[in-house]
Formats: sequence, structure tokens, C-alpha cells
Amino acid sequence: MVNFNNDFLVKEIKRRLSIINLIEGYTSIKKTGKGYVGLCPFHDDHNPSMYVDEEKGLFHCFSCGAGGDMLGFYMRYNGLTFPEAVSDLAKRANITIEKSSTPVKGHSRINNLFKLNAAVSRFYHRALLESPNGGPAREYLEKRKIPPGVIEEFKLGYAPDGWDALVKFLKKNNIPASLAENLGLIVKKQSGDGYYDRFRNRIVFPICSVEGKVIGFGGRRIKESDEPKYINSPESEIYHKRKNFYGLDSSKDHIRKNKRAIIVEGYTDFLALFSAGVKNAVATLGTSLTRDHVVTLRRYTDRIVVVFDGDESGVKAAVRSLDIFLEEGLLPGVVILPEGNDPDSFLAERGAEAFYKLIDEAPTLLDFYIDNTVNEYRNGAVTLNSGVKEIADVLVKVNEPVLRSSYIKKTAEKLGLGENEVMSLVRLGKGHGKMGGVKTVKSHSNHEKLMLNILLTYPDLSGVVAAEDWEECVSNRDVKSILEEIIVKGVHDMSSLLLSFQGSGAQGLISEALMSSPGIPDRDTAGKMIMSCMKKLKQAKLDERLKSLRLGISDAVKNKDAELEKRLLTEYTDLRKQK
Ligand SMILES: [Zn+2]
Repeated sequence: MVNFNNDFLVKEIKRRLSIINLIEGYTSIKKTGKGYVGLCPFHDDHNPSMYVDEEKGLFHCFSCGAGGDMLGFYMRYNGLTFPEAVSDLAKRANITIEKSSTPVKGHSRINNLFKLNAAVSRFYHRALLESPNGGPAREYLEKRKIPPGVIEEFKLGYAPDGWDALVKFLKKNNIPASLAENLGLIVKKQSGDGYYDRFRNRIVFPICSVEGKVIGFGGRRIKESDEPKYINSPESEIYHKRKNFYGLDSSKDHIRKNKRAIIVEGYTDFLALFSAGVKNAVATLGTSLTRDHVVTLRRYTDRIVVVFDGDESGVKAAVRSLDIFLEEGLLPGVVILPEGNDPDSFLAERGAEAFYKLIDEAPTLLDFYIDNTVNEYRNGAVTLNSGVKEIADVLVKVNEPVLRSSYIKKTAEKLGLGENEVMSLVRLGKGHGKMGGVKTVKSHSNHEKLMLNILLTYPDLSGVVAAEDWEECVSNRDVKSILEEIIVKGVHDMSSLLLSFQGSGAQGLISEALMSSPGIPDRDTAGKMIMSCMKKLKQAKLDERLKSLRLGISDAVKNKDAELEKRLLTEYTDLRKQK
């Protein structure tokens, strides 16, 4: 019997299973010299470019950059979360996971929080179906055309009016109030003893993790005079609104099958779609989209369409989300509903067919952004100068060169400018290091990769690196976060390091570094090499900035922008001196 301790469990799985056997189940691989090679299942591979190293327990595709350990392969191939993959592979390795034993710190407490949420969810659900005072709640859902099947599937509930319905329920079932307070289900009274319910006279939406465990609740008012319209559980040990979606536990299979995910803004939008048969959607939880959201969703598909309400705040939210997608190397479609519509009202008026049509014909978020900025310029809301600069700042983040130049061309045409004018602004933006977050295999310099390689081979050199300002040298965000684990957090064990990056593209960087041989003869040489890497990276950063400043200055001269010319020139002279 084994306790459910990730680090230990993963090592045990890796000890018992062979990465070769596992991968062979999905794609055929052949022995070559030291390792195995085969067609990569993660891109359209015609020349075998995926290598598997049995001894290191790693795979890596030198074409698309996918890589990692056997768990990484299994998660990615099957679109699973880490716990799902661990549980599958543990079964395969014949390891019995003993969940109820105590030693793992904090584990039983977390379990109790989940149990509490499950019980509270049942309490609210029963209140919706049975409570005599739940009439208005049931009528509301009926009016919103949410059928009983959907109410059942999502365990929608009713939080009774009054102040102590849940408090009483907890007491009756001997559930400690402190636990419920921790999850924000009840609130301590300001004067006197005791607690009162947070959710009162509201429709309750249990929010679930991808695995289907209740992690929090959302509540919508029933009486229009109650404020605010929506309340949510506060952040807790188990509920993080920036990481979780509403509905993903139910929709993930539909997303996989459809090969497309639709993101909407709230649980009522989600339920309206689901009730109308549009089941490949998720909703954010009262927060704008985050990078964590995108990382979560891309486990299931790269094709994403975001849907926003047809009002000003919808347009603003769409614009804001662009950066996050570009940072993850994705270009989603966007639908802004006709003015005054949200998904619910749109579906009620026009039906699911019309909605799917909008989704199918959705422009990319970048096209939308450019058009929106061009319109602002035409309306006089922004000047030509600031409009084109805004667009250039975004185009800098598009890492695919062909795509970038096609958007540069489009922008130039729409604004009546020459392509070169837009291009030079994009180049100027590049020097500011804004490319940092963009993730593709080719975008990080070889020196950054070599640094990673050396530290993975000789983690004890991290002391030497820590003494320098290494962070300034590294611009790739993934490389930086791996180096942080090694240098700052002191994670020197490869299996634990991979564990920190489950489900992330960073695993591919680790496998690439470990499976390419840079020819480091010994530790001493490695030490010298890493210092020279950092020096070269600092130099390169400086050179790149100087180059973009030169271009910027010549543009400023051409456009007779004396103020800009002076500013750039001062920076240029300062940097030259530094060099
Ligand atoms: Zn590949």
C-alpha cells in the first residue's frame, strides 16, 4: 500500500513502468543506437522526430518541442489532468493508493474540506427541489429554461432565506463551524457569538474541479432588489477562481470530441448554452481570463472561441484577453454578441443554430483587435500615431513570422500606411524584451538553453549562478521558471523538477536540454561555460536594444519627431557607454 504522496507515487510509477512500453502503445518506435525514435503523435510528423530515452525516462520531439516524462506523455496524449494520469498509471503499475491513511500532511484536512462542500451542495440541492420556500427559485430556473436534467447534472441549489439555515444544518450534522468559515460558507457575527450564512435567498451553483469535486459556490440573487447580483465563495485552500472554470468537469469530453472550446463569462451563460445543447463550453468565475485558465483549457484543445456580451465592457474584456492568448502562443476566435445580447438572450431569440454559425465564422481575436483600433482611429478616439503603436505592441508578441508579417500588411492597408512604417514600430517594440513570454521552440536563444542544460547536469553550480544577476540574462519565461526552481528553490532532483511542471510546455524544455548532448567534459568546464553564457546573453540583450534604438532614431528623424529622437538618442548614448 502506498500513500497518496505525489513525489513518492510518481517515482514508484516510473520505477515499475517502462516509458518505452507506454509510448509504444500510442505510436510505433524503433531502436536506434542509444535510444528509440518514432513518429511524434503531437504534431503532423512524417519524419520520425520523437526520441525516447529509457534510462533517463524522457521523451522529446525535436520538431515540435513536446517532451517530458511518461506522465507528461500520458497526460498530453489523453488530455488528462495530473491526478487523473497518476491514478490511471498507478493502476497500470499495480500500485494501490491508500487514500484514507494519515501521514501525508494536510491531506486529510483537504479531504474534509471537500467532504464539507459535498454535504453543503447536497443541502442546497435538496432545498431547491423540496423546500416550500424554494418556489421563486424553481420558477426562476423554469423561466430561464433550464430543464430538470441540467439542474440535476449541475446539482443547482437554493440557499434558503433567513440567516441561519446552513448554520443549523452544520450543527445538526456535527460539522465544525470553523471548517465552514474557512471556505467562506458562513461568516462570524461582528458582535456576539456565532455565525450567519453567506448565501441567502439565492440560486446556488456548485463550482467543481476538473475531477468533479465541489470546490466552491456561486450564488445569484432571486429578488432583483438584492445586491449584489452574484456572489462567489472567497478564495480558499481548495478554490482558486483564477485557475478554475465553471463547467469544465462536465464539458471536457464534449470539448475533446468537438475539438473546440467556447469560453463564456458566467455560469448562467454556460447553463443557457448547455441547456440548448451547446455542451463544449466553460465559464470564467467572476474574473477576467488568466494565463492559468488558458493553460488548463489547452489540455483539451488548441481551438478556442471566446464569447463576450455585446456591450462596451465586452469589447474591453476581449481586448484585454488578447495578450494572455498570445503569451501562450494561441490565437483564439472571438464572438462579440449583437448589442444588448448575452448568450442566454441570444439563444432565446435566435436558437443554437444561429449561435453555432457565429462560432464558426468568428474572426481571430487579433483581427478583431486590429479592426477595433482602426475604428477608434476613424472615430477620432485615438490618433494615428498611438493607434499604430498600440497595434505594433501587440504584433511584437506574435511569434510566428509568417503570421506576423501578414498582420503587419493588413494593419498597414487598413491605416493607409506603408508596410515598412508598421514593421519598424514592431521592431522597435521587440528591443524592449516584450518577446519574453512568447513560447515556441525557436524563440529562446541557444545560450539560454545551454545554461539550462549545464544546470540540469550540474545542479550544484546553481550557487555560482545565484551570485550573478542571472534573471536579467534570461528572457524566456519558461526557462526562467525552471532556473528559478533549480537556483532559488533548490530542486535538484530531476523527477521532482519535472513534477513542478506537469502539463506545462516547460517539460519539453527540460527534456530537450537533457536529451541533447552539448558536450560538457567536466564540472570545471561547465562552470566556465555558464559564466560565459551569462556574459553573452547580457551582451546580446544590449546589442538588440541598441539596434532597435538605431532603427527608432532613424524613423523619428524621418517623421520629424524631435522629442522622440532626443529621448531615444539619450538612451542610445547611455547604453553605448555601458558597453
Ligand atoms: Zn512533435
